[in-house]
Amino acid sequence: MIVDIKSLDYGVPTVFEEVVTDKDRLTALLGAEPVGEFNIKAKCVLDDEGLVVRLSAKGECYARCDRCGEATIGNCFCDFTETLTEGDKEFDYLTERYDLTGLVDECIVLSAPRATLCKEDCKGLCPVCGGNLNKTSCDCKVNQCVEANPFSVLQDILLTGGAKNGSTKK
Ligand SMILES: [Zn+2]
Ligand SMILES: [Zn+2]
Repeated sequence: MIVDIKSLDYGVPTVFEEVVTDKDRLTALLGAEPVGEFNIKAKCVLDDEGLVVRLSAKGECYARCDRCGEATIGNCFCDFTETLTEGDKEFDYLTERYDLTGLVDECIVLSAPRATLCKEDCKGLCPVCGGNLNKTSCDCKVNQCVEANPFSVLQDILLTGGAKNGSTKK
């Protein structure tokens, strides 16, 4: 993304947009495979400090759910503001242009999702049998309940002998 300062009016924000479709570039930056293209937006204002750039990157990538490990799609988003001056490496004196390619790459790197869930209320895996609790209900009820109620362990010990009690399976 190239910003020609001759095309900017002092103090007036101008939006530059770019669609990144290069799958290899996106994959390398995200550390994951992109689902489609990424939309880059740079709102640029030339003022006393230099070129103020508010940059954003938005897209989706293939990911795995942090709780159950199922394949899912993660939302990628990042935005940040950077002030560039004519002393920065992004500025080329000869053409009076800022080259924002490096910043765009940085924004895409930072847009990679830190946490991904297949759905907000994903039940995750059973810590005992490893079953996907979104798909099956197993009989490992002792451990499933530990988080919700630590006393349920005691309750279960007391109930030993009535093992079918509380089972969701028929
Ligand atoms: Zn999940
Ligand atoms: Zn289980």
